[in-house]
Amino acid sequence: MANYSGPVCRFCRREGAKLYLKGERCYTPKCAIERRAFAPGMHGQARKRKTSDYGLQLRAKQKARRTYGLLEKQFRNYFELAEREPGVTGINLLRHLELRLDNVVYRLGLGASRKQARQLVSHRHFEVNGKTVNVPSFQLKPGDMLKVKPANGVVDVALEASKLRPVPGWLAFNVEEKSGKILARPERHEMESGVEEQLIVEFYSR
Ligand code: SF4
Repeated sequence: MANYSGPVCRFCRREGAKLYLKGERCYTPKCAIERRAFAPGMHGQARKRKTSDYGLQLRAKQKARRTYGLLEKQFRNYFELAEREPGVTGINLLRHLELRLDNVVYRLGLGASRKQARQLVSHRHFEVNGKTVNVPSFQLKPGDMLKVKPANGVVDVALEASKLRPVPGWLAFNVEEKSGKILARPERHEMESGVEEQLIVEFYSR
């Protein structure tokens, strides 16, 4: 599956919020949104007009999609899956995103950003329940064990860079063994707080 490989700070500036797409740099004064807190492009500093309902829904969807680093087709597939499941569609959608292997690697601090976590997974640095998995979208479930393969300097650097991020309560992390366990499915307050899932549901339900 293709991935976006262009500049990413412009996404934060477009959404007017930090999406933490660049790892350690996001926590320093070098962060682009700290220095240029306006939308990118020629009209980025123009006076803002009132945003329509559609505009708000579109921005909410784009913000979530970019936060998790997915292409439109992938994101829509998750929405359609969430819609078919019992329960609240928006929460189902967020759970699928959170339980992706690349996101769990990021949440455990084993990747400095979701993008780096995805790359590490693709390069076969992790085992799930004792088997190597190199598919970033692999869906984890409660009880699954994740382990870093031995002698992994890249992950050590990422761990150092991720110290500022606490591991959420639905995950357990063993620093010595560099392993993690999914304790439970994440609840809404344990997932991305900046995502407005109701607006995303409205966007796809137009
Ligand atoms: Fe966003 Fe990080 Fe770039 Fe800041 S440094 S604008 S948080 S990606």
